[in-house]
Amino acid sequence: MTKQIVFAITLLVTLGIFFYTIRRLISYFRFTRAAFPVKDFGKRINTMLSVAFGQTKIFRRPVIGMFHALVFWGFCVILIGSIEMVIDGLTGTDKILQFLGPVYNFIMASGDVFALLVAVSIIVFLSRRIFFHVKRFEGIEMKKISHIDANIALTIILLLMVSLLAMNTGYVELKTLTGEKLIGLYPVSNVLAKWFGGGQPETYRTVFEVSWWSHILLIFLFANILPYSKHFHVFLSVPNVFLSRLDPLGKLPNMDSITREVRLMLNPETAFAAAEGDAPYERFGVKDAEDASWKNYFDSLSCTQCGRCTSVCPANVTGKKLSPRKVMMDLRARMKEKGPLMVKNGRDFSDNKSLVRDYVSEEELWACTTCNACAKECPININHPTLIVDMRRYLVMEEASAPGELKTVFNNIENNGAPWQYSADDRLDWAKDLEININ
Ligand code: SF4
Ligand code: SF4
Repeated sequence: MTKQIVFAITLLVTLGIFFYTIRRLISYFRFTRAAFPVKDFGKRINTMLSVAFGQTKIFRRPVIGMFHALVFWGFCVILIGSIEMVIDGLTGTDKILQFLGPVYNFIMASGDVFALLVAVSIIVFLSRRIFFHVKRFEGIEMKKISHIDANIALTIILLLMVSLLAMNTGYVELKTLTGEKLIGLYPVSNVLAKWFGGGQPETYRTVFEVSWWSHILLIFLFANILPYSKHFHVFLSVPNVFLSRLDPLGKLPNMDSITREVRLMLNPETAFAAAEGDAPYERFGVKDAEDASWKNYFDSLSCTQCGRCTSVCPANVTGKKLSPRKVMMDLRARMKEKGPLMVKNGRDFSDNKSLVRDYVSEEELWACTTCNACAKECPININHPTLIVDMRRYLVMEEASAPGELKTVFNNIENNGAPWQYSADDRLDWAKDLEININ
């Protein structure tokens, strides 16, 4: 009973802190703008099954992709065992899911094998980060704290797997020594028990209890570290893929405010009637975090900082300042900075800073070729170009700020109806001395 009470208090504290953090992050969504409507659920489920659960994009780099996929699938299987531990901890039962019979044996055996595979994968990840210079993990946005954050999270995952294997090994050896019935199958821990087994049952009871508590406390700790870490994607990557933008890459969404302006010009009478009920004018494009859409913000929270987007960005690989990963990290950092101030002072609050310029420079924004390679490569379907283009839209439409060459093009379009500097009347001058009929 004491164990149950201690467990229940620990769980309550964990959930309390977790939901406090999540509530704070969610509260910032109310400042963001609308994005696309979430429909086409069949298509979304298919995308989620292939991209998130099938890890299809991760496998574009087959070797390291396989290690990552093993960690993801391992988490999914081990999660079932963790849920059982929470129920056992609260109710005082022993392996409550055993009524599942052969299915239970399969889940426990898979969890035991995956614990080893995940541990090996994490050792590979840690070794790459600590001993090898992987270009993808470098960049101006990758500060020392980003590397520390990644290493801490990976170390916790490794400890989680070690404690799980120690718990299973203690359990197997305890049951072997006492002759009691073993519930579930544990292929890896059976081998470990043979290597390290022997001695008094009490020793293995202690090993089991200590590992059980270590494992569950590490889960609780990890859950509360994640929202502050790049590893928040452990929670958010699957929903982020489900909420993917389903339009073809490269298709830019129209701006409602501009559509309304055009309608007003084309048919003022009907457009005015429609415009009356519309929301007041908001900003053209994105200047600051609150101008971004909820999906942009969701993307920024989900970003794993893997750098796959930056590694394929033609602007970045040719030495420009632009890094699509940095754009996502900047939006998250800016919302983290301004979100609490807006909660306190309202959406219109200004701290005289903005996402554009204070975080993302004009040089970065105009370096983008809108090729969409970043969005295509991102393993969790983050879409960077829509945000980059919206920041450019702000610069052009509200500040008339654009590189000189583009301003010339804009003027030509306005005056000549074409990007070139010639009048529309002169358009066919090139053909006037040729013997062709141009009428
Ligand atoms: S945006 Fe996507 S590809 Fe780029 S770092 Fe984040 S998760 Fe990786
Ligand atoms: S769309 Fe822009 S940010 Fe993305 S890869 Fe292409 S140039 Fe880089």
